[in-house]
Amino acid sequence: MGKPTGFKEFDREKVPWRLPVVRINDYDEIYTEHKTEQLKTQGARCMDCGVPFCQSASGCPIDNLIPEWNDLVYNNRWKEAIERLHKTNNFPEFTGRVCPAPCEGSCVLGITNPPVTIKNIENAIVDRAWEEGWITPEPPEDRTGKKIAIVGSGPAGLAAADQLNKAGHLVTVFERADRIGGLLQYGIPNMKLSKKAIQRRLDKMTAEGVTFKTGVNVGKDITPAELREKFDAVLLACGATKPRDLPISGREAKGVHFAMDFLTANTQKSVHGDNLTDTFISAEGKDVIVIGGGDTGTDCIGTSIRHGCRSLVNFELLPQPPVDRAPDNPWPEWPRVFRVDYGHEEAEAKFGKDPREYQILSKEFLVDDDGKLKGIKTVNVEWTKKDDGGWQMSEVEGSEKDWPAQLILLAMGFLGPEQYVAESLELETDGRSNFQAEHGKFTTNVEGVFAAGDCRRGQSLVVWAINEGRGAARAIDIFLEGSSCLPAPGQTMGTALAGA
Ligand SMILES: Cc1cc2nc3c(=O)[nH]c(=O)nc-3n(C[C@H](O)[C@H](O)[C@H](O)COP(=O)(O)OP(=O)(O)OC[C@H]3O[C@@H](n4cnc5c(N)ncnc54)[C@H](O)[C@@H]3O)c2cc1C
Ligand code: SF4
Repeated sequence: MGKPTGFKEFDREKVPWRLPVVRINDYDEIYTEHKTEQLKTQGARCMDCGVPFCQSASGCPIDNLIPEWNDLVYNNRWKEAIERLHKTNNFPEFTGRVCPAPCEGSCVLGITNPPVTIKNIENAIVDRAWEEGWITPEPPEDRTGKKIAIVGSGPAGLAAADQLNKAGHLVTVFERADRIGGLLQYGIPNMKLSKKAIQRRLDKMTAEGVTFKTGVNVGKDITPAELREKFDAVLLACGATKPRDLPISGREAKGVHFAMDFLTANTQKSVHGDNLTDTFISAEGKDVIVIGGGDTGTDCIGTSIRHGCRSLVNFELLPQPPVDRAPDNPWPEWPRVFRVDYGHEEAEAKFGKDPREYQILSKEFLVDDDGKLKGIKTVNVEWTKKDDGGWQMSEVEGSEKDWPAQLILLAMGFLGPEQYVAESLELETDGRSNFQAEHGKFTTNVEGVFAAGDCRRGQSLVVWAINEGRGAARAIDIFLEGSSCLPAPGQTMGTALAGA
């Protein structure tokens, strides 16, 4: 433990973001530089609890060794800190930037005080390690000769590829998009996760022997059965990419788009400089409405502002969350409280108002004679608790309203994985259409075919995708070799148990 009285002496101080009025003029990351002294002080706030809830139970899904690296940072032992961090996390620069940090929600200090700034410290450790040149390719010394195909290059596929390559297997990652990274690449915008940070990791993995093949749509360009024949094992890490639609009147209007189409094309054009002819969707000069909250909604807000939209509104169906934890949401659960994310902050700076409008139900897209979107009709809703404890929604009479809009972005979540790979393999799916495979085993009903990440658990978080990719890698290693040195989530490399 760094400083026994640190939590009493120092207040929580986050690494600030760049000023909203400045950052909305570019697509660079929103973060400011890490300050070593400040991070040491923040590390000193860690109490090194006997039961560190932050790294277990409802805390970090990959069991990051948080109190250990808080102490190492406090004591200026940054190189050891990255070694500890890499034991449980293949990509701390991804989670350090985009993770909502359930660890902080269950930090014991959080019972009485603001929690330790765990995510900032994680990010600073890995950024410093890259700057100092401590992260270099480490190819495996021996190869097993076994070949593994991974379908999908999001964080689940990449974590599994990294682990399986470490175990000496020959890994090929197939990706249907033109660039590697899944939603890290096309989904989460550059402002939150720089594409250069992804490329740096991919270069390292390539130098270590992982093969990446882009533009290969498994199930269309090559059948999953062919993959199964050519490789000793196949991991499906296809994500949950089927968007939830809003099939109300006027849906076909020109100007209503899925969030992912908007965000993907923006990254291609605005960040990578691709010459898009007809897929780029511009918000410039338009009244924009984003339907749905969460990370996707926020990313649509931030991107629309950078395009130069005229106005911006974000509809939420549910009521505004409380500022503090509600009685039925105690520590160490994830706090369901009102948060101001980067996009909301930017909208406030640009338009003088938080863009969120709560308890709004969309009724009809308004369309002009040329088939172009001109607005949307909504009604307010109320939520009342039923006798069985469930919630009931009812429309508020007389609350109908027409909103002007030339661009509406649908960010209402995802319905699970696309089904063509599952159908081709005759894969069993669960009640929510996800690929059926038990967490921890990751085996599907087809021998030698495994599933991990959002395609198995439904749309989730980057940190859970890493958890699943690491777990699936170990399951595949055991399938091929009978035992494994790869750790299951919850174990570090040195303590991994052999065998199933
Ligand atoms: C806009 C947006 C913002 C988000 N922001 C955050 C955030 O800030 N923090 C956070 O923790 N989580 C965030 N998430 C969620 C997070 O990105 C996902 O949970 C995570 O990426 C899932 O990882 P995955 O590897 O399972 O799948 P994905 O990242 O979805 O990757 C799956 C990949 O498989 C490819 N693929 C699918 N089928 C095939 C096929 N047949 N052949 C070849 N390739 C195929 C897809 O093209 C895709 O690249 C966000 C999600 C969205 C949509
Ligand atoms: S990965 Fe997420 S949950 Fe784990 S320590 Fe980092 S921020 Fe916390």
